[in-house]
Amino acid sequence: MVDLLNNAQARERICELCRLFWQLGWASGTGGGISLRIGDTIYMAPSGVEKERLQPADIFELDRHGRIKKAAPGQRLTACAPLFQAAYDHRDAGAVLHSHSLDVVLASMLVPPGEPLRLTRLEMMKGLEGVGYFDVHEIPVIENTALEHELKDRVEQAIIDYPKSNAVIVRNHGIYVWGRDAGHAKAQAECLDYLCRAVVRMHAAGIDHLKYDRSAPDAADQDTACAA
Ligand code: ZN
Repeated sequence: MVDLLNNAQARERICELCRLFWQLGWASGTGGGISLRIGDTIYMAPSGVEKERLQPADIFELDRHGRIKKAAPGQRLTACAPLFQAAYDHRDAGAVLHSHSLDVVLASMLVPPGEPLRLTRLEMMKGLEGVGYFDVHEIPVIENTALEHELKDRVEQAIIDYPKSNAVIVRNHGIYVWGRDAGHAKAQAECLDYLCRAVVRMHAAGIDHLKYDRSAPDAADQDTACAA
C-alpha cells in the first residue's frame, strides 16, 4: 500500500515530517532534508531553512529526472537533490529522507574504513525492508565530502554495491534512507536510528555488537522450526 497524496497533501506531508525530524534532532541547525515522489513529480524541502517552520509554499517540485518544475519563491533547492535523485533513479523510491541523527554519526565512527555497518540479532532489524533477525545486514558507510552534492558518486556506488540496503550512511555526517512512500521511509529511518543507538550504547558498555548474543545455541534452529 503506497501513499497516494495530492499536490497539497504532499507539500503538507513534507512540512509535517520536517517538524517531526526537527523534534528528533535529525534536522536541527537547518540540516537534513526530505523529499517524496507522487507519480512523476518529486517534492523537496528547500535548503538552509528552519525545517520546523516550513510552509507548503516553500516546497520545490521537480520532474522524475530531477529538473525543477516549480521553484519555491525566495528559496534555494537543497544540495541533497542529486543524492535523493540517486535513490529515485536506482531504487524507484517513493520517498528519500536525509537525517543528521547523532546516533548514526556516532555509529559511523565505529566502522573501519571501507567496511559497512553490520547488524545482527536485534529485533528492530525486522522493521527494515527484507531483513530478518538472524541476518547479518550490511549498510554501506561512505566517507564525507566538503560539500553535500559532492557525495553523489559515492552514494550511487554504494546503492549499486549494497542492493539489500535501503540506506547509505555518510561518516561523521548522517544518513540517506528511502522507502516506497513517505511513511515507509520514515519507519526505515526510525529503525535505523534505533539500531545505530543500540550499536553505540553496546560499544560504550564494552559489548561487541556482532558477538554479544547470549541466546541458546539452537535459537536459530528454533526460529526456523517456528517459521516452517
Ligand atoms: Zn547533510
